[in-house]
Amino acid sequence: MSKEKRVCVIGAGPSGMSVLYHFNKLKEQGKEIPDIVCFDKQSDWGGLWKYSWETGINQFGEPVHGSMYRGLWSNGPKEALEYPDYTFEDHFKKAIPSFQPREVLYDYLKGRWTKGNLRHWILFNHVVRQVTYDDDADDFLVVVKSLVEDKDLPVQKYDYLIVASGHFSVPSVPSFPGIGKFPGRVMHSHDFRNAYQFQGQTLLIVGSGSSAEDIAIHNLKCGAKKIICCYKTTPMGLKWPPEITERPLLTKIEGKTVHFEDGTTADVDAIILCTGYLFHFPFLEERLRLKTKNILYPAGMYKNVLWTEAGNNKLFYIGMQNQYYTFTMFDAQAKWTVNCITGELKLPDKEATRKDIEKWIAKMNKLKDSHDDVNFQTEYVVDIAKNANYGYDLDSSQQLHDWQHHRHEDILTYRDRSHASKFTGKQAPIHHTTFMKALDDSMVTFLNPPNPEIVLAEDYKGDSYLGETLNAPRTIEL
Ligand SMILES: Cc1cc2nc3c(=O)[nH]c(=O)nc-3n(C[C@H](O)[C@H](O)[C@H](O)COP(=O)(O)OP(=O)(O)OC[C@H]3O[C@@H](n4cnc5c(N)ncnc54)[C@H](O)[C@@H]3O)c2cc1C
Repeated sequence: MSKEKRVCVIGAGPSGMSVLYHFNKLKEQGKEIPDIVCFDKQSDWGGLWKYSWETGINQFGEPVHGSMYRGLWSNGPKEALEYPDYTFEDHFKKAIPSFQPREVLYDYLKGRWTKGNLRHWILFNHVVRQVTYDDDADDFLVVVKSLVEDKDLPVQKYDYLIVASGHFSVPSVPSFPGIGKFPGRVMHSHDFRNAYQFQGQTLLIVGSGSSAEDIAIHNLKCGAKKIICCYKTTPMGLKWPPEITERPLLTKIEGKTVHFEDGTTADVDAIILCTGYLFHFPFLEERLRLKTKNILYPAGMYKNVLWTEAGNNKLFYIGMQNQYYTFTMFDAQAKWTVNCITGELKLPDKEATRKDIEKWIAKMNKLKDSHDDVNFQTEYVVDIAKNANYGYDLDSSQQLHDWQHHRHEDILTYRDRSHASKFTGKQAPIHHTTFMKALDDSMVTFLNPPNPEIVLAEDYKGDSYLGETLNAPRTIEL
């Protein structure tokens, strides 16, 4: 690998950080690696996991990236996203429950990134404004703006471009007759931060994806009186508690009254649009731009990563599919990308590449339900990991299928269940407080039962919690 090669990574979220992690691993093994620069428009690493209270436009006039809310807990078991070479037990020095508040997962991510010397590659508060591909010179011309200096940097040339800018940040916002005159609060889930403002209220949630499901439950947990979820095509079909109901899509709004397709009406106090996100890459030249909905295998990408439509096999997208797998999938994709760039992995010819993409898309088009989806993504993750010589078996289908069954058994308690780690072999302990009662989402309270006596009386089911009796300060941030 020639040292003169230059690589530009856009985004220092879990996807972009995995790219840096695998380049760093090669460096630690004494191998030559290219020059790498990673730009992130936020002030720190973590992508969506770097929580921000901000909504709309930030201090630099940039759209806020964050879509996570205060009090968010992971909605999948940690055992399905655990890095094999850095387990949760490696990080926390003890086994922890399967589902965690956002701050705990972020801490885990930061632990892996801090082990390597990755930060020096990242320029924070730098937004990539424009990328074009120069066919003659075979390189990418990148315009970046330093947000703090409020200034565009001189155009820079890179041999490879890795887009890891995420796809849950630019809201897809529908409109409905009368919504402009609705007297209460209307927001997209991208801007949802704090459920306590809706205590005692009746909420309308538009949508039937994971944001709708999670925001409905979270609002109930925080004291909303009643929640009506409405769907465009398919209801979530979960066993909801009496406070949460599902109806078909709304047709119009008159004052506070919402009319639904089935002819029913309801008076609501606020509306949250959980209507998904756009794949939005305004900084990329048209032919480099991935255009897709949130599906498991977007067209035009070999191994779901390499952009084949332009850019001479030197443009990669990480983490751009619908996600049952997350961190481990991004990690395998990142290693595959790194191997392509270093030349360790040789690409097949154009025809074989095209056929491979077609094979995956044909398979995807036959999927019938979410269990099929999990099997499809498992097959994909195992395939790319093998191709990348990843060195670990990333198949977490057992955990993901079990998790799906738990959700359908009881949507309010699936986070109280325990899964086993593939890599430590250990079953996770049961959390000291059941999810619907765990209003304090701070890491210190998560890791330490606030009052062991109450825990034993009410919720505690296993052996001594994490093997310790702890009395950490209880900080409640509401
Ligand atoms: C509400 C919500 C809840 C979720 N919950 C879970 C969960 O419980 N478990 C789970 O595993 N996953 C969850 N996810 C999925 C989430 O997508 C992944 O966990 C992960 O954050 C994706 O990482 P990423 O690096 O691909 O993208 P992101 O985390 O979005 O990071 C992208 C980075 O790119 C930067 N960037 C974007 N554009 C530019 C630009 N032009 N110039 C410079 N920098 C740029 C951003 O600032 C950001 O830091 C959730 C997502 C949402 C929206």
